[in-house]
Amino acid sequence: MKATLQRLAILEEIRKHGHIDVEMLFAALQKHFPTLALGTLYRNLNELSQKGILTEVTLPGQKQKYEIRKAPHVHLICEQCGKIEDKTIDLHAVIAQLEKENHYKISSKAVSFYGLCEACQKDPSATVKKIP
Ligand SMILES: [Zn+2]
Ligand SMILES: [Zn+2]
Repeated sequence: MKATLQRLAILEEIRKHGHIDVEMLFAALQKHFPTLALGTLYRNLNELSQKGILTEVTLPGQKQKYEIRKAPHVHLICEQCGKIEDKTIDLHAVIAQLEKENHYKISSKAVSFYGLCEACQKDPSATVKKIP
């Protein structure tokens, strides 16, 4: 398998899932490319991240995931079904307030909100935890 073809397959699989961890990605790719080695996948992921094509997504209590790089966004994460949605909201005012009140220079952010998605709210066994 050629390197470019490999990368296209990797990017296509990540795009399909939105956010995916290495284990799941590897399993999905192996269906199409049985000879793919895990080391090769890691090398490709590192290179694509370094080039800024992929973003590493770190979520507390979860394996690291990858996504195709896009405009800055926050994550809405369903605690019931695990679905991760990308949402664009304007955090400039929040960041400006944090910098001003704490005499801080903020260089990066990773914002996630947890709750129940619309489908899971209809599930009677799901429990909504309220923000304290
Ligand atoms: Zn859900
Ligand atoms: Zn995302």
